[in-house]
Amino acid sequence: MIPFLDLGASYRELKPEIDTAVSRVLNSGWYILGPEVEAFEAEWAEYCGAKHAVGLANGLDALILALRALDVGPGDEMIVPSNTYIATWLAVSAVGATPVPVEPDAATHNIDPNRIAAAITPRTRVLLPVHLYGQPADMDPILTLAREHGIAVVEDAAQAHGARYKGRRIGAHGDVVCWSFYPGKNLGALGDAGAITTNRPDLAGRIRVLRNYGSRVKYVNEVPGVNSRLDPIQAAVLCVKLRHLNNWTERRRAIANLYSKELADSGLILPHVPDWADPVWHLYVVRSLDRDRLQRRLTEAGVGTMIHYPIPPHMQAAYAGLGLAPDALPLARRLADEVLSLPMGPQLAMANAGRVIAAVQGAAR
Ligand SMILES: *Cc1c(COP(=O)(O)O)cnc(C)c1O
Repeated sequence: MIPFLDLGASYRELKPEIDTAVSRVLNSGWYILGPEVEAFEAEWAEYCGAKHAVGLANGLDALILALRALDVGPGDEMIVPSNTYIATWLAVSAVGATPVPVEPDAATHNIDPNRIAAAITPRTRVLLPVHLYGQPADMDPILTLAREHGIAVVEDAAQAHGARYKGRRIGAHGDVVCWSFYPGKNLGALGDAGAITTNRPDLAGRIRVLRNYGSRVKYVNEVPGVNSRLDPIQAAVLCVKLRHLNNWTERRRAIANLYSKELADSGLILPHVPDWADPVWHLYVVRSLDRDRLQRRLTEAGVGTMIHYPIPPHMQAAYAGLGLAPDALPLARRLADEVLSLPMGPQLAMANAGRVIAAVQGAAR
């Protein structure tokens, strides 16, 4: 059996290093914020090419606090991809604003910059692109539109650790970049964790205050904040794993290259990589008109797959209130019916990737 993803494998690979780091924190007696969190923030900011990083409890909070720091809320509109994980939309709802979905580019599945202008209204305050599957969104036209209209850009980079757009790492193209270190992400903690990166000291400072009860000085509360602090144990784990991230990305890339080469004649639609994109292959997503059958046959052949994502946000009960018919966003709906994610991860052996390819070729026939 080849699982879609073996979550314990990255821990087993680094067990001595991680165990040492965790016991260092346990023995330090310092369990909230402090030196471990500060060390990771400095390393993560540097890795991302950003001036500031702020460690948070998870990726959804990173998005929510980024929006709160921009002072947006009820009555405001935010442009989100129609094809994304629902967390992107939930952050907009959490601050009381309205998500305005824009359809993807059919080749990359990322938000189509050519469709954004038509969705901008006088109420639009934020453009919220997502670097889906580890593939950067087309940032230059997005940043140009934002500048022209005086709109902020918040990036959902929860799947894009280390990805590059036109040679430069994701981390500070927009106003704030939001990260998740959920265990299954390319850089994953051993529990929930998240962060923001930014070049704007004002936003970094506001998010730092918001994550800690709205307080800079203990028992002095400037704003109604929340408790969303990165756990020092997770920060220590992330520092260890960060040293291996580039190597792990290379292994993902080798698997993706093999899939793309060997499945070129399979009849499936394979991922398209624009020449300005340097993706990190969080997911390797193929499209099939007969997706459910393909998935069934792969399961029978012992190959685990996943669907990212089976129900688009606009068709979820959570968003019934927006009154969007399923076909209001036909591309998002179609992708949900056709996409399939093949096994992918740094610990997936090349021999097993070869077995996945053979199973896909057998199943597609
Ligand atoms: C994982 C993910 C999130 C949410 O991150 P959590 O840490 O699970 O809260 C947000 N957006 C996208 C695109 C994600 O993949």
